[in-house]
Amino acid sequence: MSKATLNYAQEQDKKDRLATYRTQFHIPKDQNGNDWLYFTGNSLGLQPKSTKQYIQQELDDWANFGVEGHFEAKNPWMPYHEFLTESMATIVGAKPIEVVISNTLTTNLHLLMVSFYQPTTRKYKIVIESDAFPSDRYAVQTQLEFHGFDVNDGLIEWKPREGEELLRIEDLETILDEEGDSIALLLIGGVNYYTGQYLDIKKIAQLGHAKNCMVGIDLAHGAGNIQPKLHDSGVDFAAWCTYKYLNSGPGSLAGLFVHEKHAHNKKLKRFAGWWSHNKSTRFNMRQPLDVIPGAEGWQLSNPPILSMAAIKASLDMFNTVGMDALRKKSEQLTGYFEFLLNQLDTENIKIITPSNPKERGCQLSIQVKSADKDLHKKLTAAHIITDWREPDVIRCAPVPLYNSFEDVYRMVEKLKEILNEK
Ligand SMILES: *Cc1c(COP(=O)(O)O)cnc(C)c1O
Repeated sequence: MSKATLNYAQEQDKKDRLATYRTQFHIPKDQNGNDWLYFTGNSLGLQPKSTKQYIQQELDDWANFGVEGHFEAKNPWMPYHEFLTESMATIVGAKPIEVVISNTLTTNLHLLMVSFYQPTTRKYKIVIESDAFPSDRYAVQTQLEFHGFDVNDGLIEWKPREGEELLRIEDLETILDEEGDSIALLLIGGVNYYTGQYLDIKKIAQLGHAKNCMVGIDLAHGAGNIQPKLHDSGVDFAAWCTYKYLNSGPGSLAGLFVHEKHAHNKKLKRFAGWWSHNKSTRFNMRQPLDVIPGAEGWQLSNPPILSMAAIKASLDMFNTVGMDALRKKSEQLTGYFEFLLNQLDTENIKIITPSNPKERGCQLSIQVKSADKDLHKKLTAAHIITDWREPDVIRCAPVPLYNSFEDVYRMVEKLKEILNEK
């Protein structure tokens, strides 16, 4: 059977052992009741049907117990974040002491830089990717300024070469060879939000550490998508949101990783709150700050339980599926998507994401020649939800938990139809 047929795509769905998970999500529908083709799980993951019950449980316990819910709730609110730690740690390949769900992503980046960006007059520069997500760039710029440095001098961009889209590790090596003595921190997106390139974070950590730099990774596009093995990678810290591939709802809380080697270092500077403090004496209220070892020591406030409940709903599902199975399907699904795109008889589009499955997650970024945004508009009008990024890229993420081979097939058919209209 030819692979480029609806039949073949449907056969793949029948063989797919994860196919039933799609039924556990709310898939938005058009006016005729047909599912949208939703490819923006890299921006906001879809809602698991179970989320409502998880949140309802906390609403009921709040109604029934008021403040006593901190101890009396079915899932007591006091230690609620602890119910998430183990699953979250497994997903990113960390030890439980290294991970906590707390705050939001950009907040975590700042809190972690307070601890791990300790510039001196000679060693103060920060390296980011030239296509870093704007929030990360603003965070880094304002950290430099906060410490009294000039951004033009202090911010170093790791850029793709002229005429290329992807980053080369050799070029980071060159930056470190030339300027390593003045660099204090590398803050790099593990999976680049724009190109979908999954960088070798272990190698980045080795290169950075060889020059005595701290190494932090933004995993917003990695968590729940690829398997970053954070502990083994040796990076000093990482942060990620949970509303993209981790399906926990708009603006939900974020994850934070601090490597075990820093877990017991009480001398690390930090911004603290009462949730950073020793749990057994927290409510004595009058103790001097006694920071919890490990990632929990970067919490500030008691967390919003309704949002935590949505995260629990999602992580419980991830726990059942397992990242190995998810990643296996993801490689097949994105591989199929790539195969179909490569069959298109057109010069007008080009996939800029690496073709090696080890260097990407599920997302493919498709460059549209002569920046024709119309293409994206027409896809959206057909309820094919993708993401347009200036100047000329459509980002499209087939998510293995709820996208099907048929979704991918139908998307490429529609793309072909639109391209042929011209
Ligand atoms: C999505 C994303 C963000 C968003 O930050 P919030 O603080 O959650 O609003 C930041 N950085 C990267 C790399 C992202 O992909």
